[in-house]
Amino acid sequence: MSTANRVADNDLSDMHWQHDLLGSIEVGIVVIDRDYKVSVWNQFMENHSNLLPSQVRGKSIFECFPEMDVEWFKIKAEPVFTLRTPAFLIWEQRPFLFRFGSNRPITSASDFMYQNVTLFPLASLTGTVEKICLLVYDVTDEAISKLNSERLNSQLQQISRTDGLTGLFNRRYWQEQFELEFKRIRRNAKPASVLMLDIDHFKAVNDTHGHPAGDQVIKRLAKLIGESVRETDVAGRYGGEEFTILLPDTTASCAKLVAERIRKTAQKCVVTHEGVDITFTISVGICEYTPNHKEPMAWLEHVDQALYKAKQDGRNQVVINQP
Ligand code: GH3
Ligand code: MG
Ligand code: MG
Repeated sequence: MSTANRVADNDLSDMHWQHDLLGSIEVGIVVIDRDYKVSVWNQFMENHSNLLPSQVRGKSIFECFPEMDVEWFKIKAEPVFTLRTPAFLIWEQRPFLFRFGSNRPITSASDFMYQNVTLFPLASLTGTVEKICLLVYDVTDEAISKLNSERLNSQLQQISRTDGLTGLFNRRYWQEQFELEFKRIRRNAKPASVLMLDIDHFKAVNDTHGHPAGDQVIKRLAKLIGESVRETDVAGRYGGEEFTILLPDTTASCAKLVAERIRKTAQKCVVTHEGVDITFTISVGICEYTPNHKEPMAWLEHVDQALYKAKQDGRNQVVINQP
């Protein structure tokens, strides 16, 4: 065999294994030119898009994938041509570049393939970048498991903030929010009020009807509170049958309207437990923030004093403490 023939043979076998490599690799390989026209489309891309290389070659990638966000992709790809630096598209920013179905089982949480895409320049012999290569990685498993663990974390966070019996915020979380809000209020010099509610003679409810009946009453009041406050208000179960509500942007007199509404509704509530009707009343203390409240607990102390006075004055009433 002549030397020339042997070289040609070697070239051919090189081409063959390179072709095999491009075909068997579990990564999408796409080469596009300055006009975003496709010149390489490997087996992975063919399998997932159902488009043969002959159907895409020489065509603009945007023509082949009309749903692709042209502006966004160009912003990512242009610097690869001009600055000759690689670029990365990650699924956290956009789940995919090419909308491919997920080949995961039906039970999988995704019906499309999450993708990370690397774009890198292909320099010609003269050093100019006429083409860029896209490597398309299927990261569906990684994305799904990350999304699941994020969902789990947010569920756990939700649970850790919530009082189990009532579904309102628990004391720890309420207090955290209260302290944060306190700092904001001090900076912004806006009004804000805190309500503290306590069920009257609740020991008697427990003693007469039993602890589970008492629980029902607590739950009913919590529901009522939840329905009476705004989205921006922060309501929590502060203790056994004691609740606190932080009302941002609310003066004491406006807070009193809220408190009276809750008090009157509570008075009309009938909780039926094992066929027995139970009624109850509540007392409410209110204090509006003043700059004299240097610490959050000083403010809360004044709210507590108002509640104490409401109890002293005969219960089933709302008292404002304006220090
Ligand atoms: P007052 O009008 O002065 O508030 O009288 P009170 O009987 O309500 O007195 P206090 O607020 O001190 O009593 C609260 C009672 O609530 C004592 C406790 O046994 C009961 N309690 C605390 N947590 C729970 C709970 O989760 N479920 C039930 N059923 N009872 C609770
Ligand atoms: Mg009580
Ligand atoms: Mg109490």
